[in-house]
Amino acid sequence: MASERERLHNLFPDLDFDPEQLRNRYRQERDRRLRDDGEAQYIEAEGEFARYADEDPYVESGYVRDPLDLELDVVVIGAGFSGLMTGARLKERGIDNFRIIESGGNFGGTWYWNRYPGAQCDIESYCYLPLLEETGYMPKEKYSYAPEIYEHVIRVGKYFKLEDRALFRTRVTQVRWLADESTWEVSTHRNDKIRSRFVIQATGPANRPKLPGIPGISSFRGKSFHTARWDYSYTGGDHTGGLTKLSDKRVAVIGTGATAIQSVPFLGEYAKELYVFQRTPSSVDLRGNKPTDPDWYDSLEPGWQRNRRENFAATLAGQNLGEDLVADGWTDIARRIFLSLRTRSPDEGEIDMEEIELRSEIADFQKMNEIRTRVDATVRKSDAAEKLKPWYRQFCKRPTFNDEYLETFNRKNVHLIDVADTKGVERITETTVIANGREYEVDCIIYATGFEITTDAYRRVDFDTLGRNELSLYDHWRDGFRTLHGLSSHGFPNWFTIGINQNAFSPNMTAMFDDQAMHVSYIINEVKRRGKRSIEVSEEAEEAWVQEIIKHAGTGPLNFLNECTPGYYNREGTASQGTRQNTPYAPGINAFNDLLKEWREKGDLEGMLLS
Ligand code: NDP
Repeated sequence: MASERERLHNLFPDLDFDPEQLRNRYRQERDRRLRDDGEAQYIEAEGEFARYADEDPYVESGYVRDPLDLELDVVVIGAGFSGLMTGARLKERGIDNFRIIESGGNFGGTWYWNRYPGAQCDIESYCYLPLLEETGYMPKEKYSYAPEIYEHVIRVGKYFKLEDRALFRTRVTQVRWLADESTWEVSTHRNDKIRSRFVIQATGPANRPKLPGIPGISSFRGKSFHTARWDYSYTGGDHTGGLTKLSDKRVAVIGTGATAIQSVPFLGEYAKELYVFQRTPSSVDLRGNKPTDPDWYDSLEPGWQRNRRENFAATLAGQNLGEDLVADGWTDIARRIFLSLRTRSPDEGEIDMEEIELRSEIADFQKMNEIRTRVDATVRKSDAAEKLKPWYRQFCKRPTFNDEYLETFNRKNVHLIDVADTKGVERITETTVIANGREYEVDCIIYATGFEITTDAYRRVDFDTLGRNELSLYDHWRDGFRTLHGLSSHGFPNWFTIGINQNAFSPNMTAMFDDQAMHVSYIINEVKRRGKRSIEVSEEAEEAWVQEIIKHAGTGPLNFLNECTPGYYNREGTASQGTRQNTPYAPGINAFNDLLKEWREKGDLEGMLLS
């Protein structure tokens, strides 16, 4: 049996780095950041912190309206892309007596709230923006900026005439199953009286901002806001920059995830002094945006968008043998791994799992070496350059793509404050942020600290859903998700959810949501068509799906996450066998969609009970 060293040499004779050294470095960096309090280190945006989530800087305050009294077929909660696509797909099936309830002032969800300067989608627009063929819209660039995405959201809303189906500026406070009437009671903070046969929760993964539980956080007397509630009245300017009111301000940014990567270049340009408090650097790859070529766009054949989305998903899952249509930073790593597997010579014999993992790891090391080299090539202050290098595998955290972020640290007024050793900012006082024992006087703190994406269900949604026998959804999911196909649960008749629960995950979320919306609207239509009142997942079908998820999760993805630097992907380093049922359907989005299609074609609503 060849030793690992021999095996490595045989497989990669030209390797110019020592993988074991990198593995050790990655482990050290992970351990340096691991905190005993895990997810509890974050503060929910409620109570004294509620304003960080509940205040809407994009509408006039003081809006009031009379309570409504409505009898509906369907209530959709949330008007982001998932709610919007759900409304669209319901309409397509002729289901029209519904309302989409949304706390924001318009459609858009994450694109309504996230208006920070530079906000952009890092998934190719041709895949990300839904219904491009139907609406005839051509995205301006390969990667759209937030305003264009927001405009498209509104376009889709208009196209499906969803405006008068929306109840904006309305927060759901409770959803409760009324067994005697086989209907849901939906309560809102505007005291509406709403009864609905079906409820579809489409609240999105990034709907609740979260804050770091830094000691003293509530004592700060200057200006502070979360990036998802950007206050342009304070900074001046708009999404494209012009933050001129910051010219005499000392600004602190806490966090260096995807949001900070996009907004820091603008803050660096306009703030008098900018302090970027970094616990873990992001991997920052080339953006390489470019305008859409109208001739190419015109030449696309009908059905091209689904085809492109499936091609993207298949490439990411290493299942694409042919052309990589998107060909960008997302597909790059998958292509490299795949290429490495394909270029094996036949006399190397049958490939085993160990070799697949090793080849993936080496491709990842090479990719991350390039990312680190890019830092050295861009950042002139060597101390900052060292700190900006990420030491973990690329998909441990959301990879980012930006051509201005690293360059920003060459500015005299921009200071990188590394807080990895103290596992975060130490303390906040009335006027300062304290890190590494030093006080930084600031006028403004901007929290780029992300969202309740993978935390417990009760943290992610600020209302409870009470099913049969007043069972809370939070209790039902206390030990992990329990669903059929990630879309509905036993004990919750006529209730569905669109999102990332126990279904396949794709970073191209709009495609994922749309496929789910189509499936759920099919089911609702079937209930109506068959003259039934309600439908519910059976206990057995739910358990079988939980086991299916666990079976496919295996140990590979969890082992991968456990080796990772902490973050929301691995629930701050607490991913464990116990959370296996919370992993997505591992065979991938295309396999998942095939499975749902087959389920629909069978036509017997398998695993769901009609009454
Ligand atoms: P993230 O959760 O990715 O990042 C939060 C940041 O806050 C991390 O850098 C984290 O450090 C830091 N942080 C948390 N607590 C502290 C502390 N006590 N002291 C110092 N730093 C702290 O949030 P984002 O808003 O950046 O991104 C969230 C998600 O939104 C993305 O992952 C992505 O899914 C989505 N997004 C998508 C975009 C797109 O292009 N499609 C653009 C922007 C966001 P650490 O890493 O050490 O925990």
